[in-house]
Amino acid sequence: MIASSIYKLIGNALSPAGRRARLSILIYHRVLADTDPLFPNEPTAASFDRQMALLKSVFTVLPLHEVGVHLQAGTLPARAACITFDDGYADNLTLATPILKKHGLHATFFIATAYLNGGRMFNDTVIEAIRRSPLRTLNLDELGLGKFDISGNEAKARAIGQILPQVKYLPLGAREQAAARIAELTQCGPLPDDLMMTTGQLQALHAAGMEIGGHTARHPILAKLDADAARTEIAAGKTFLEQTLNTPIRLFAYPNGKPGTDYRPEQAAIVRELGFDAAVSTQWGSATQSSDPFQLPRFTPWSSKPARFVPMLLGNLRR
Ligand SMILES: [Zn+2]
Repeated sequence: MIASSIYKLIGNALSPAGRRARLSILIYHRVLADTDPLFPNEPTAASFDRQMALLKSVFTVLPLHEVGVHLQAGTLPARAACITFDDGYADNLTLATPILKKHGLHATFFIATAYLNGGRMFNDTVIEAIRRSPLRTLNLDELGLGKFDISGNEAKARAIGQILPQVKYLPLGAREQAAARIAELTQCGPLPDDLMMTTGQLQALHAAGMEIGGHTARHPILAKLDADAARTEIAAGKTFLEQTLNTPIRLFAYPNGKPGTDYRPEQAAIVRELGFDAAVSTQWGSATQSSDPFQLPRFTPWSSKPARFVPMLLGNLRR
């Protein structure tokens, strides 16, 4: 209690109500049932519950679709924050939503629609294949990636960290093929097909009062696509969501989200033309009255230590 009142005072100085307000937009991907030995900092239901309690004790959490107007008009409350999730993992509904509801919090979920109903993103194919591999060494010479020690969890995490960035920027088709070939070479056996939501789960998430946003269909690096292909990907995701949920889709998150690397002003212009109201990136920082509504920054404390959660959010208000 004492800590939260001190944090509020600091927050009031860094993010006062009105024209000098700074908006914190948190970004999550998954909430896991138990700690993942490969990604020990990924939130679990227990740590996410704690984070939401801490967030609520210091920040005023608002729906992202409501804050845009206030941010521009200079009428945001002090210490305003929004919660977002990217990609469309099933655990967003099964584990995160009950916790959000328990705390009375609203979140926005950005969905890559092509992977709903049994699909798997390329990164999860690589991660889950290496997790399950019985091998001690993974030879990816034929893909030009080299050899990797995968003899234990630490080695597996390191190998994943080295492989994913090299596969991520391949053209869409080549990226899928590379991930599938890596899975074969790991001798991992069957991979999970229930990581992402089904359409029914997506509808349940929306019916629970949560906002759904666009995140393209196949999660491409938009900066690597020509204008037509980028428009097709962004529009396909939006149309699918609007038809599935029977509601306008107003918010968008750029896949991977780094300005200049993953998207450029040309793609931001397409997002605007397609009728979205606002878009979020993965650039760290907090949004101000002068921020481009189609390039709102986001941030989530990366430390899993509960004592670091609010201080890191306050530190982000200086960015
Ligand atoms: Zn994403």
